[in-house]
Amino acid sequence: MRHYCIVGNHKMNVSEYEHSLEPERKKRFVNTMTKAVREGHTIVLCPTSVRIEHIADVVNGTGVALGAQNCHWENSGAYTGEVSPSMLAEMGCTWVIVGHSERRRDQCETDELIGRKASAALTNGLRPIICIGESIEQRRRGKTIDVLNKQIDGILSACGRLVFDASVIAYEPVWAIGTGLSATTEQIEEAHLAIRESCRERGILDTPILYGGSVSADNSDEILSCQHVSGALVGGASLSSDNFSSIVESAIRCANA
Ligand code: PEP
Repeated sequence: MRHYCIVGNHKMNVSEYEHSLEPERKKRFVNTMTKAVREGHTIVLCPTSVRIEHIADVVNGTGVALGAQNCHWENSGAYTGEVSPSMLAEMGCTWVIVGHSERRRDQCETDELIGRKASAALTNGLRPIICIGESIEQRRRGKTIDVLNKQIDGILSACGRLVFDASVIAYEPVWAIGTGLSATTEQIEEAHLAIRESCRERGILDTPILYGGSVSADNSDEILSCQHVSGALVGGASLSSDNFSSIVESAIRCANA
């Protein structure tokens, strides 16, 4: 039986289930999360930092883990506006996303910096979700695999094999994020296989590889059925209790198929 990891990234949004839901929808959400965790799947919700404690109350008792969307590489200091991994751990987080393409784009995060963040996260008990992925121009130029390898190498040289090994990789083609245009299953299989081979060549053996990019209730079955897909990083669809429940139900279904 496969065990999936489904991560919800709320980005800079407040999810619908932080407000009161109708009892039936709330019941479905709580029951689905609880069942998935009981069956060995890992469900993580990553709200914006200031909503972590709020989401902790919403998922209390379900076994859903808490994650953050970013962390600093230091635990304290003169870094205005930043949140440290030790602070996140104190709030109950056990996961953190590093290197999301929106941060690479808007905060100019480099692979080296992402590696340092991953390393600091793990030292503080947070499991890193390391994001990699190509732009549409890079894909059109046939450079997808080269870009993925370069990102892996850059991050790896900053954090080392042991940190990478203990992390989760999220393959997120930049052009598929928030566009409603998911990669095809062929593109996903090809990229995931290349990442798996590239990891093996570098001595990284079992790191799960998630897919992210417009995952929805409509495409989650076919994406999660792909051979090398260990789960999904879900942005927009994680904000709605019904959509997120459907994706988690899909993981339960695919694991038993
Ligand atoms: C993401 O934020 O990592 C993401 C994949 O977003 P979306 O599912 O909205 O494409």
